[in-house]
Amino acid sequence: MKDSYKIFLSEQEMPQQWYNIQPDLPRPMPPYIHPVTHKLLGPEDMAPIFPMELIKQEVSQERWIEIPDDVRRILRLWRPSPLHRARRLEAELKTPARIYYKNESVSPPGSHKPNTAVAQAYYNKQAGVRRLTTETGAGQWGSALSFACSCFDLECRVYMVKVSYFQKPYRRSLIHIWGAEVFPSPTDMTNSGRAILAQDPDSSGSLGIAISEAVEDAVQHEDTKYSLGSVLNHVLLHQTVVGLETEKQLALAGEKKPDILVGCVGGGSNFAGFAFPFVPRKLKGEDIRIIAVEPTSCPTLTKGQYTYDFGDTAGLTPLIMMYTLGHSFVPPGIHAGGLRYHGDAPLLSLLVHDKIMEARAYPQTPVFESAITFARTEGIIPAPETAHCVHAAIDEALQCKATGEEKCIVIAFSGHGHFDLTAYDAFLGGKLEDYVYPDEKIHEAIAGIPKVTV
Ligand SMILES: *Cc1c(COP(=O)(O)O)cnc(C)c1O
Repeated sequence: MKDSYKIFLSEQEMPQQWYNIQPDLPRPMPPYIHPVTHKLLGPEDMAPIFPMELIKQEVSQERWIEIPDDVRRILRLWRPSPLHRARRLEAELKTPARIYYKNESVSPPGSHKPNTAVAQAYYNKQAGVRRLTTETGAGQWGSALSFACSCFDLECRVYMVKVSYFQKPYRRSLIHIWGAEVFPSPTDMTNSGRAILAQDPDSSGSLGIAISEAVEDAVQHEDTKYSLGSVLNHVLLHQTVVGLETEKQLALAGEKKPDILVGCVGGGSNFAGFAFPFVPRKLKGEDIRIIAVEPTSCPTLTKGQYTYDFGDTAGLTPLIMMYTLGHSFVPPGIHAGGLRYHGDAPLLSLLVHDKIMEARAYPQTPVFESAITFARTEGIIPAPETAHCVHAAIDEALQCKATGEEKCIVIAFSGHGHFDLTAYDAFLGGKLEDYVYPDEKIHEAIAGIPKVTV
């Protein structure tokens, strides 16, 4: 394996179980709170929108959860995904560091998202659900869920953030190809959408607004449930196949341990799925830095507040203890669409708050510069989201060059950028501007968060 560019596992070596971090947390996760009564949320409160198996996973304290055979059979269309050694990037940077990337761009929709979409579609089908609703930002989640629903013969409706609906027409095409419907949100088809349009007919939409619409649709239809592509515990759980495979592959590559794990964070699912399997090793004393990377235009972990907030704009979802910029946050229309959520996964938030993981934010122009360096050395064009952690890895590798340290750096390569070429064109044409979300706006939005005590 000494000169490998790629480390593969056989299909039989794909994980048989997901890793649930909850029993290994340094302290239990603060519970979800009911949005209206402010009492603790019970399983029955979630039942109108999620099937019971997923609700059980949400609160499970079992460390290992069996992956159903029907789910594994579909994941095997592209899993296990390769771990690459970025030798050409290392040479370009003249760094003594060893850089690896776990390539989730090889899935049919081109990102890590179908790892959970397939599992969620499966459990809904098992529960007799006929139709799923969801929201999507840049369209990656919408396309992943459409793909998964087509595997299990479920209907699917996607509420897509309006600005992306028009900026990313090809993701819409993917959704249609896989047989789902997609509408620009805010729509006039839900009360939540109509309320936003009444205030602001030109609203460009946000993930929070689209979530409100998708949840409302699910609650109002007996045969319909809702599916979320990030943030919740069961979603992070399904993504742990990424980290479990990475761990085996690093061992095959002769690495005793990674020194630095980097991943980009929107709601936190790909990064958590990649990093969580390494957390017990870190808690036992192994020196592993785990770095979450986000854009300065949506600095949830680096500038948000760790507090209870709603997951959506209308306040229909439970209150979740997490880092948040306030649920009324409407991000500027920058290109890294998948990283524009106001909150973050509660499990990830807890680990960042307790300093087991670190977070940092970058503006988009250096991020795109690094993405171009990566594309010109490794060949693969990173998704704009993925480019954030590629940039962090390059940053760390250049520090190794300065100090002569031979660190092992591993990137969660969450997806490719083939549907984001408009953003690359804008960058190459010198048209991308950096944007730092103003502190006043954050304070304003955070002031609007309901105060709850548990
Ligand atoms: C959706 C997406 C993200 C952000 O979502 P997380 O839940 O934080 O993983 C990152 N990268 C890609 C390629 C995505 O599609």
